[in-house]
Amino acid sequence: MDRMRELCDLLNRWGYEYYVLDAPTVSDREYDRYYDELKELERKTGTVYPDSPTRRVGGEPVKAFARHAHIARLYSLDKAVTEDELSAFFTRVEKAAGKGAHYTVEYKFDGLTICLTYEKGAFVRATTRGNGVEGEDVTAQALTVQSFPLKISYQGTLEVRGETVIRLPVLAKYNEEHPEEPLKNARNAAAGAIRNLDPKITASRHPEILFYDVNYMSEDPVSSQVEAMEFLKREGFKTYPYFKICSDYDEVQAAIDEIEIERSRIDVLTDGAVVKVNEESARAEMGYTDKFPRWAIAYKFEAEEAETKVLRVFWQVGRTGKLTPLAEVEPVDLAGATVRRATLNNFSDLTRKRVKVGSRVLIRRSNEVIPEILGAIEDGGEAPVEKPSFCPSCGAPVREVGANLFCTNRECPPRIVQKLTHYCSKNAADVEGMSESTLALLLEKRGIKRFSDLYLLTAESFAGLEGFKEKKITNLLGAIEKSKKIPLDRFLYALGVEGIGRVAARDLSAFGSVEKVASLTMEQLLAVEDVGEITANNILNYFADEENIAELNKLKEIGVEPYTEERNKEGIFAGEKVVLTGTLAAFSRTEAQKKIEALGGECQSAVTGQTTLVVAGEKAGSKLDKAKKLGVRVIGEEEFLSLLSAHAG
Ligand SMILES: [Zn+2]
Repeated sequence: MDRMRELCDLLNRWGYEYYVLDAPTVSDREYDRYYDELKELERKTGTVYPDSPTRRVGGEPVKAFARHAHIARLYSLDKAVTEDELSAFFTRVEKAAGKGAHYTVEYKFDGLTICLTYEKGAFVRATTRGNGVEGEDVTAQALTVQSFPLKISYQGTLEVRGETVIRLPVLAKYNEEHPEEPLKNARNAAAGAIRNLDPKITASRHPEILFYDVNYMSEDPVSSQVEAMEFLKREGFKTYPYFKICSDYDEVQAAIDEIEIERSRIDVLTDGAVVKVNEESARAEMGYTDKFPRWAIAYKFEAEEAETKVLRVFWQVGRTGKLTPLAEVEPVDLAGATVRRATLNNFSDLTRKRVKVGSRVLIRRSNEVIPEILGAIEDGGEAPVEKPSFCPSCGAPVREVGANLFCTNRECPPRIVQKLTHYCSKNAADVEGMSESTLALLLEKRGIKRFSDLYLLTAESFAGLEGFKEKKITNLLGAIEKSKKIPLDRFLYALGVEGIGRVAARDLSAFGSVEKVASLTMEQLLAVEDVGEITANNILNYFADEENIAELNKLKEIGVEPYTEERNKEGIFAGEKVVLTGTLAAFSRTEAQKKIEALGGECQSAVTGQTTLVVAGEKAGSKLDKAKKLGVRVIGEEEFLSLLSAHAG
């Protein structure tokens, strides 16, 4: 048997497991041993197989990039930044393709687009997107990237498309190792790596390519985005695991919301989500403008960056006891607001980003309230930030778990305040008017520590506290009382278990009661879509804790009753998908929404082909126009009120 063939196959399989699946099955040493054997045989025989892994090391620098035309044009995507623009896209799709089309939602990665060509099962060329018609030949550079195969089973001519990215931890490590010439951000670093004449430099930055599309297939073309992704995976291309298939606007919106929340936690730079019509048949109905496909859109999140200087770093204790470094920065204008503070994730993040007191740093504001420090722009700064061994707030010893530091004191004051603030927040128990400062005061003066303590507050509890007049006290007590009736998902979120965000809370609420959720096993928890192993463990620990159970029982005794929402199937709005637009004189939008939902209706944020009713108040804008265009039934406030009063009680 041909030993070289055998070695190529073996090494390629190991490379695939390591780079594409992130699941290595052999040690680096063992890999190197076989690799060296192959290299030696190649030297002796003077033969190198086209798919030999030795081709990936990065050859000699090229003098210039040759231009190369793509077989099929690489279109860029039309962009949407507002919900209205997104809903307009849906309207267009439904008009052209009817309601049967599905949508796929993926991350939009912020790097450099690249196109790989294969012929008769072999990799032949890599090109940048360029102007979409022709790009630069970057084959030598791309060869050093390990996340795609040199040999595939598909025998026709093929072009696949992906985004070259550098993972954020990889970038940070590179910068640590190259302090003399750090790379400022992941996007430029990735583009610079591929568009570098010297392939060895490309290799040194360890870019990856995440594949997301098939651009051209000469035979048996795929007939949908789902098939394209399956094809890519089957042939050994690296794809990003997040991929949602949706059947309507609401599902797409939910997937985008999810991406918007998750994107700051993943290790690849992203600036939005890509929504595509799944079916090739529907795409064909829609076609292209002169610039874009009509069947896809990039939903871009707002992001702004600016440079400033770190003046001081202090530590904030969160509701789980986690210490988060927060930097006071030289005031700088960013997206129309003056920024004075910026956050870092944890202590290792701070070292990784080389942030010191006095450093000049790049900060980015996305949709989060507090902007984030992306990293130091240059070396320097006066003093490194010390890692605290004791909680700066209560003095208790600090525990290190992974990259994070935790205060070990359950009664640490800011921790209690954060926990209570989270409990009272709008998407949790929604205790209107209860602010963080009020809770801090109640902890300090009245020893209010637990959720259940809130329900024991009386008018007298506020006596002698500055700034609490009768009306304010009555309102607060009313809001606390009202919060006893709480939907189960919001209650689960309110508990503040690390990892249970709103999405996971909603998933868990499907079990019907707190008791049910408390009794779930690891296996059952892992079967919940948005619960991973770490969160599952947090949930198990939470319900195994006696103090937590005692607190839950106490809340129950007090009359805090989480309920699951069952749609009123008899109500006048049963089966209706309703959009509110403009201002109503009688109610706020939220109040009106609650009334509609109580009578069986489902509220939507935008008019789509599925909307059945629009309630239009004063100054109704584009939503009303859209409703008229789509022939959706529209009622004014007067009619809305008379419907409500006829069916009240
Ligand atoms: Zn503490």
